[in-house]
Amino acid sequence: MEFETKCLHAGYTPKNGEPRVLPIVQSTTYTYDSTEDIGKLFDLEESGYFYTRLANPTTGAVEEKLAQLEGGVGALCTSSGQAATFYAILNILEAGDHFISSSYIYGGTFNLFAHTFRKMGIEVTFVDQMASVEELKKAVKPNTKAVFAETIANPAMYVLDIEKFAAFAKEIDVPFIIDNTFATPYFCRPFEYGADIVVHSTTKYLDGHAVQTGGVIVDGGKYNWANGKFPQLSEPDETYHGIVYTDTFGAAAYITKARVQLMRDLGSTPSPQNSFLLNLGIETLAVRMDRHYQNALEAAKFLSRQSAVKNLKYPGLEGDPSYELAQKYVPNGLCGVISFEIAAGKEAAAQWLDALKMVSLEVHVADIRTCALHPATSTHRQLTEEELEQAGISPGLVRLSCGIENINDILTDLQQAFDALEG
Ligand SMILES: *Cc1c(COP(=O)(O)O)cnc(C)c1O
Repeated sequence: MEFETKCLHAGYTPKNGEPRVLPIVQSTTYTYDSTEDIGKLFDLEESGYFYTRLANPTTGAVEEKLAQLEGGVGALCTSSGQAATFYAILNILEAGDHFISSSYIYGGTFNLFAHTFRKMGIEVTFVDQMASVEELKKAVKPNTKAVFAETIANPAMYVLDIEKFAAFAKEIDVPFIIDNTFATPYFCRPFEYGADIVVHSTTKYLDGHAVQTGGVIVDGGKYNWANGKFPQLSEPDETYHGIVYTDTFGAAAYITKARVQLMRDLGSTPSPQNSFLLNLGIETLAVRMDRHYQNALEAAKFLSRQSAVKNLKYPGLEGDPSYELAQKYVPNGLCGVISFEIAAGKEAAAQWLDALKMVSLEVHVADIRTCALHPATSTHRQLTEEELEQAGISPGLVRLSCGIENINDILTDLQQAFDALEG
């Protein structure tokens, strides 16, 4: 099946007389004929549903679809993107370990890495993702266990040189975890460039309609977890009678452990209702993303002609710092998000945003409805001046997320807000 077809058909194949649409199995529990049947599930000898915290048929179908869309061996859906990133790291790192992350990342991820993980004894070093592999290697420590970055950085809008990061991770023999939220698997499948684990906030384009929060971890299935660095996976887990994940689950060791251990113990489970909504969104991903891209490209061209605008970043525009990388990694299109500065600064940016009529002010991106946000006073307001600069956020920065309306209506609204700014 081609990508667009998988968006509709992967993960759920109804049999004779069954519902055409993926059903919502709104049940926490499942019933079995014998204690022996249930015992086998608990010992991981057989797979099956026994409690929705661990697995649910509706969520399971979406997980299978997402695994296929990214080209992975398995997936685990979570109740938010934050939970997905948290689990993706915690699945393989523990107190005393260290990892390396690009500094151009989502504000929530930055807080998680810089503060919460640090309190848990897991240390991060932020690096400039534009640096060479030689430069990046200076951040490596004996206890470094992972490398992390975003395909298209939110909100800095830099495209990652994925192959460079994959080569770096390979050279130091640690897994490369990538947040593919902004690109979506429609425009970029990081496993094809050497990434090991993909995470998403499914709250964004995969859903697209702003109706559920969710996340997913997808396992590429290629990393060798038995290299001695990851005893969590290659040595016995006493909570499952000494099972060794790499021996029992092979290529799916990482994602199986994330489910049966982390989801069991921490429980950031998506509701079946939300998985149903997420699935509806994914069904139209391909057509929506094409339109987001067309509108954003037009809006970016329009904005770049405005004298009130500076430092516009849209990697689809020629001359953008990430244009070449975009041509390589996301050649068929990009997300709808554009970042730019209102040249006159923070107050003027607020004034321009307040003048918008159809475009709504939202702490969100990737909605089918066009929306805008001022990161310095919202998503990134906890960051110090220095951290803001490191993350590429300036006081006048605006993040515009182009929806799928008719482009004329979007441009008309942006124009009248500029008129208001001058008046
Ligand atoms: C929104 C976002 C997250 C966090 O996801 P939530 O669903 O809001 O928890 C992580 N990474 C990126 C790139 C995001 O845009």
